[in-house]
Amino acid sequence: MTILEIKGLTARVAATADSAETVDILKGVDLTIESGQTHAIMGPNGSGKSTLAYVIAGHPKYEVTGGTVTLDGEDVLSMEVDERARAGLFLAMQYPTEIPGVSTANFLRTAATAVRGEAPKLRHWVKEVKEAMSDLDFDPAFSERSVNEGFSGGEKKRHEILQLDLLKPKIAVLDETDSGLDVDALRVVSDGVNRYKAEENGGILLITHYTRILRYITPDRVHVFVDGRIAASGGAELADELESEGYEKYLTPANA
Ligand code: ADP
Ligand code: MG
Ligand code: MG
Repeated sequence: MTILEIKGLTARVAATADSAETVDILKGVDLTIESGQTHAIMGPNGSGKSTLAYVIAGHPKYEVTGGTVTLDGEDVLSMEVDERARAGLFLAMQYPTEIPGVSTANFLRTAATAVRGEAPKLRHWVKEVKEAMSDLDFDPAFSERSVNEGFSGGEKKRHEILQLDLLKPKIAVLDETDSGLDVDALRVVSDGVNRYKAEENGGILLITHYTRILRYITPDRVHVFVDGRIAASGGAELADELESEGYEKYLTPANA
């Protein structure tokens, strides 16, 4: 059993050489996710959902100013990005990065080697990748293409779930993996997430704008995220309420 515990987390965009200005984005996030649980986070654009995902993963653009994040009691915030991945954290990005010149096959093997601590045995690995690609409706020819370069929106999202399938993290943060998917791709992605749940008993933080993915992936808890914090939490029925009534009643005066 794994527990990711987030307590009183505050964070801002880190100052850069070009800009000394900092903006507070996370304003006290409390959230606990255990193995086998699926938590959905829903909230308006700009409320800080991706920032939360990035802070958990360790993106250097963000500076944590308070609070704690622990994975089975270990301090996540003091870990480097690659240590977080080895500890069992995974982020599927809202906007996956293109990496020209790096083949998808190479990228996946390098990632698996980094997370597992040793290179996967080649014969095993080829089979593993072939199966995962077929599960996610990828033509094997994708292996030779540069990572995400020229991929359609849906292909980029399916590639994130391909990584989830191969890396088998303990806790997966999926940032709007459903955005921009047609119905068929949504089904393929959801099936992939549900396989991960069933096979790995993984904990999932599913950030989404839309309730339609929640018809395929049943959340145990739904959280309303507004202005850098969780404004309300409930069961799956809360998602239906948000769909029909929107976020209005959760907005703070400053945001309304
Ligand atoms: P969401 O994912 O909920 O749409 P984000 O976490 O992407 O929200 O953004 C939250 C707020 O933080 C937005 O107002 C956004 O403009 C701001 N923000 C995020 N990243 C940066 C950055 N690197 N520099 C400046 N502002 C940022
Ligand atoms: Mg976002
Ligand atoms: Mg599989």
